[in-house]
Amino acid sequence: MNNLDPEVARDPDHLVVYGGRGKAARDWNSFDRIVGALRTLGNEETLLVQSGKPVGVFPTHREAPRVLIVNAMIVPRWATDEVFWDLEARGLTMYGQMTAGSWIYIGTQGILQGTYETLSALARAEFQQPDLRGRWMLSSGLGEMGGAQPLAVTMLGGAALIVDVDPRAIERRLSKRYLDRRAPDLDEALSLVRQAASERRPLSVGLEGNAADVYPEIERRGILPDIVSDQTAAHDLRVGYIPVGYSVERAATARTSDPDGYMKQVRASLATEARAILALQRRGVRAFDYGNNFRAQARDSGVSDAFDIPGYVPRYIRPLFAVGSGPFRWVALSGEAEDIARIDRMILEEFSSDLPLCRWIRLAAEKVAFQGLPARICYMGYGDRERFGHLVNRMVRDGELSAPIAIGRDHHDTGSVASPFRETEAMKDGSDAIADWPILNALLSVAGGASWVSVHHGGGTGIGNSIHAGLVIVADGSDEADRRMARVLHNDPGIGVARHADAGYPESIELARRAAFRIPGISDEPKSDSA
Ligand code: NAD
Repeated sequence: MNNLDPEVARDPDHLVVYGGRGKAARDWNSFDRIVGALRTLGNEETLLVQSGKPVGVFPTHREAPRVLIVNAMIVPRWATDEVFWDLEARGLTMYGQMTAGSWIYIGTQGILQGTYETLSALARAEFQQPDLRGRWMLSSGLGEMGGAQPLAVTMLGGAALIVDVDPRAIERRLSKRYLDRRAPDLDEALSLVRQAASERRPLSVGLEGNAADVYPEIERRGILPDIVSDQTAAHDLRVGYIPVGYSVERAATARTSDPDGYMKQVRASLATEARAILALQRRGVRAFDYGNNFRAQARDSGVSDAFDIPGYVPRYIRPLFAVGSGPFRWVALSGEAEDIARIDRMILEEFSSDLPLCRWIRLAAEKVAFQGLPARICYMGYGDRERFGHLVNRMVRDGELSAPIAIGRDHHDTGSVASPFRETEAMKDGSDAIADWPILNALLSVAGGASWVSVHHGGGTGIGNSIHAGLVIVADGSDEADRRMARVLHNDPGIGVARHADAGYPESIELARRAAFRIPGISDEPKSDSA
């Protein structure tokens, strides 16, 4: 229900949470039946959800997950947009994105932290500076994910110009304080961000327009941003990328009245934008693909050198994934913001030596407006997640928090996703498309006793391009929760370390040798009484 809170979801009436058509349940009838089943579910039962529809309640046991979810899975040969969306239109499946269909979306804060983490890694790698002061970024898309870009940039002290065709997306971000202001035209927008960057002052500016118009114009004028990217929902071209000359409403009509003609225009516009990004890149602007499958769509639209734009994971995030670090989140089931504030303070005390973590927690506490249930997210690694889980469980037990806390994570994580255009692009051993890992990850979370576990296809980069898994575990203050967390919150980042060790990353191998799990051939000594 929190996923579909009007403050959280993009289009709750149609059960759409974020990321193009990422949904929480197949239809309202399925939603009602899921809620009905959860209300009566016993502690030794497990509800099965098949692509957003409840299909059975089976006897299991106390420490088994209460819900198992599989969304959008399709046999590989049939895993094309055409087949999938046809099956979806016939009511047989549902697109679950990553955290939409796995019920742990927390609004734009989730992507905010990821974008913040990516851009701080970019600042270090590209400009040898700890933040983005004195720099400005050009990007597009102020939707559920893309809306995080302006705030992530300003949190790092930089300036951002973000283009969106939909004036409502701009309004929504202004009202949530994710965006500072709106410019009436390109001239004003450019002057605002350039002035702010020259004064090393943070500022984010939204501009109503089409990226395929605005990017080439900026390039033509020879005005160079420091960074360029795109965060339209390009992974799903039918609805996620609006062609030049169309409003959102006109696009909706054209999409059904003339689907082929419409798609041609989508592809032509996307190609124009991609060529502008490449031209900016050749002039020294740092360009990157931020996980929306923009490059593959551009290549398929005739831009043969689209993959000259680097992906953000190999370039900026992989070193974090390699040591089991990734996005990790928790939600106050009380609905009380003070519960999150108490956990923030606990982190600042207990994890005080982790300076980037503490910097983020302080900034988030100050800048992030909650959507729906109060929640917090950060990057946390192997070992720390487990420790954090126990600390929170103790706070629930001792009454320091007013209700249980749901602890979960994005599917975009260290050991939980195979996605060759994003998380597993350019793996050291070439194992980009190997999808055994997310399945092992989900099975391990089930074996460990997460509260609910999900496996999805197609999140982030679209149908045919990814397989990924997620989990949530509820800290209710019980001893049982401690036992379950000791397994789940250890194993989940652990398999991320194992996956990267297997691919040959030296830091992962080194960490695996010291870890509380074993990798045959790398760390053979039993570390528990497993004999
Ligand atoms: P969304 O559908 O909520 O928003 C997309 C926005 O793009 C809309 O506001 C739309 O008006 C705008 N838009 C579309 N075409 C445009 C154009 N030509 N010019 C300007 N604006 C245009 O999507 P979202 O939830 O914000 O997700 C965006 C993308 O990010 C998706 O492809 C998603 O899969 C991807 N994503 C990336 C990550 C990551 O970690 N990098 C995580 C999750 C999702």
